[in-house]
Amino acid sequence: MNQESATLFQKIIQGDRVALAQAMTLVESNREADREVAVALLEIAESKKSELDRSIRLTISGAPGVGKSSLIEKIGLKAIREGHKVGVLTIDPSSNISHGSILGDKSRMQYLSLSESGFVRSSPAGTLLGGLGRRTKEMMTLLGVAGFDLILVETVGVGQSEHIAWQLTDGFVLVIQPGSGDELQGIKRGITELADIIVVNKSDTSFKESAAISRGHYQNAIHYLTPLRKGWNPKVLTCSALDGNGVDEFWENIRLYKASRLEDGELKEERIRQDSFWLSWSLGITAHQILMNHPVVNQKLSEGLNMGEQSGSIYRTEFEIETLMKKLITITETQAG
Ligand code: GDP
Repeated sequence: MNQESATLFQKIIQGDRVALAQAMTLVESNREADREVAVALLEIAESKKSELDRSIRLTISGAPGVGKSSLIEKIGLKAIREGHKVGVLTIDPSSNISHGSILGDKSRMQYLSLSESGFVRSSPAGTLLGGLGRRTKEMMTLLGVAGFDLILVETVGVGQSEHIAWQLTDGFVLVIQPGSGDELQGIKRGITELADIIVVNKSDTSFKESAAISRGHYQNAIHYLTPLRKGWNPKVLTCSALDGNGVDEFWENIRLYKASRLEDGELKEERIRQDSFWLSWSLGITAHQILMNHPVVNQKLSEGLNMGEQSGSIYRTEFEIETLMKKLITITETQAG
């Protein structure tokens, strides 16, 4: 057994938040030596999950500015007051541009991140992944064994990331705002059918009336969708992260949702499906990175691009690089071990 991992694991399950943060940094690292320790740690966590992990893991999705962070702060503090531990994983959208993670998200959920029973982690958005962290699943595993029983994964609401987040978590909350002039935003983007709970946020001040109208629209719309989860019909709620109205109802629905997942071993089966999705997804990213970062491929790619600009064809270039990639990965079974 890897001693460093075993020590780290003990600290994590004893509630050492610094150790948990260190473990997450380790899990995000691409250095070979760190990967060894991280994988050993995750292996221990996996072996203890049935004893320690009581979590429900929810995606909180929605367009920028609808109030996801504000809502997470409110619902998180509510859950903590009721004796729960809340872990939040967010993406720092600025990190692609600045090439480093700034702590913008942390300051947006300041009370939650300061609470002893809250843990907020902001990860850089991988260029490949849109609004999802490369190691979100691993982090959920760590939070779960550390006793965080409500885990919220905030996605930035771009591209395919919602579909991936849906596959990797136990439930999907879509946050929208009323009166944006783009009614049924989620439906157009094919997101609404993923939602287990739709929250029309900002149901306050001048938005109150339009929030009720939006709720009606969404209730109507989901009526025609086939529920994706056994034992749960999607709910549409109105809420205000500003004045706290509707937060209790939102929390109650999260509790009901969790109870419905625990019935008939549904959650257990979903976690198995999540694992199998994650394995292919994660290895797909790895394969892409290994091949695209291979010096020979890189060289050919830049040569091909230069040539393409002059006279060559990008289709020929692609074919040649494809052939090269196949050659690079052709080894015998004995060599693969
Ligand atoms: P996110 O980008 O989806 O995480 O949205 P934020 O939580 O950062 O909120 C975006 C803006 O909307 C901020 O200026 C918030 O103060 C405001 N906001 C968030 N929730 C509410 C709400 O319930 N009512 C009103 N009126 N404003 C809100």
